[in-house]
Amino acid sequence: MPAPLFPTLADGSASEALRFGDHVLTHAELAAVAGGLARELPRGRVAVWATPTVHTSVAVVAALLAGVPAVPLNPKIGERELTHILADSEPQLVLAEPGVELPEGLAALPRRDIPLTGEAGPLAEEPDPETPALIVYTSGTTGPPKGVVLPRRALATTLDALEDAWGWTGDDVLVHALPLFHVHGLILGILGPLRRGGSVRHLGGFSTEGVARELSNGATMLFGVPTMYHRIAGEVGTNTALADALRKARLLVSGSAALPVHDHQRITQATGQQVVERYGMTETLMNTSVRADGERKPGTVGVPLRGVELRLVGEAGEVIDDVETVGEIQVRGPNLFTEYLNRPDATAAAFDDGWFRTGDMATRDADGYVKIVGRKATDLIKSGGYKIGAGEIENALLEHPGVAEAAVTGEPDDDLGERIVAWIVASGEPPAADELADHVARLLAPHKRPRVVRYLDALPRNDMGKVMKRALGA
Ligand code: ATP
Ligand code: MG
Repeated sequence: MPAPLFPTLADGSASEALRFGDHVLTHAELAAVAGGLARELPRGRVAVWATPTVHTSVAVVAALLAGVPAVPLNPKIGERELTHILADSEPQLVLAEPGVELPEGLAALPRRDIPLTGEAGPLAEEPDPETPALIVYTSGTTGPPKGVVLPRRALATTLDALEDAWGWTGDDVLVHALPLFHVHGLILGILGPLRRGGSVRHLGGFSTEGVARELSNGATMLFGVPTMYHRIAGEVGTNTALADALRKARLLVSGSAALPVHDHQRITQATGQQVVERYGMTETLMNTSVRADGERKPGTVGVPLRGVELRLVGEAGEVIDDVETVGEIQVRGPNLFTEYLNRPDATAAAFDDGWFRTGDMATRDADGYVKIVGRKATDLIKSGGYKIGAGEIENALLEHPGVAEAAVTGEPDDDLGERIVAWIVASGEPPAADELADHVARLLAPHKRPRVVRYLDALPRNDMGKVMKRALGA
């Protein structure tokens, strides 16, 4: 175990740790307030009402110091999902920002307001590495969210591997605009910097102005999801303040979903920067990344991180060694979760002889770079005897000037088995269906031509900006 989780927190450093709007905490202040709260937490699990605030960070660090599993809750959570998560995770207490109103579903739980000041005191001894640290619910992209039990060992492993891949140090200052109830924003975005004595500036909500302001003001890294980089890509060609700020960044990282190649290209054209893509899941934390000191290959998610074993497996269960052949990504390593909470059946089904089945399909090139084709369940279209990945058709559609957003699904077809359906948000006057189909056929291949084009005002997305293909009938 690369223990402890926060090796420098007890040092009492006066350097900035967390900045959320007007709220700023140094590492010493964080140690005092989180250490104090940790001493008062009950055993058993605690829910954290995860508003994008410094309070949430304090609460999670306190739970980690105490060795009490924290269950971060989406503050926009719906009634049904809240009922499910509370019944599933059975927290003893809910920690919330003072003054914030909680939904009725939480009324039965004792509430404890999260403080921002506390008396310095000794920190508890480091708990066992296999102690559950967090129970994080998956994004619910493909089905109801599952509670993923993450031990301290997985958190420490993944953060150390990212440090290795990104040359990430305590001198980095992170611009953060992500929610705090998924692993991207919480583990990478908050715990990552704190583990090494670095700092986080949270924007509250994403804006290109906020990104430009912080990056031109000493911040060194940006972590974002593709919808944020899509906004940046759309503006950066004409917004010189944004382009100048991005040029100064040490590292721009994207994850949680595929970043369209067209967005990569527009950002590189305007700034010279190449966004680094990494690939992970709630269950596995981070699996692969483009390395900061390695070749950047836009459209790939890079190579397996230190300590992660990755293989591609074909439909008959065979391990694929050939380059450019599609298979399911399976991973093994100390970055993995312990289990799905209360779901021994789902846990067992998720593993193939010790390897975790990600449900994501990919190819590998001769240098070992992994290219994600899409999810097995929703993004692999079987049409006319071909297996076609939705992602490359989406990328092709996005290269058409009349297309602002695109999602591709398959639907049953008597002749083809499945036919390719393109869901389009137009960027002005909607391009004709034939024109879009020809554009795809010309760029890719005739059998990848969408047979049906449907126009929408917006794509259905979840709070991570991921397209909910189930809502499109996939
Ligand atoms: P659920 O499991 O509830 O359906 P989810 O899989 O979206 O939801 P997460 O664990 O938050 O929940 O997301 C992991 C998934 O996100 C991966 O399995 C993969 O499909 C996708 N993903 C993450 N990073 C990338 C990336 N860089 N490129 C493409 N896909 C990515
Ligand atoms: Mg998943």
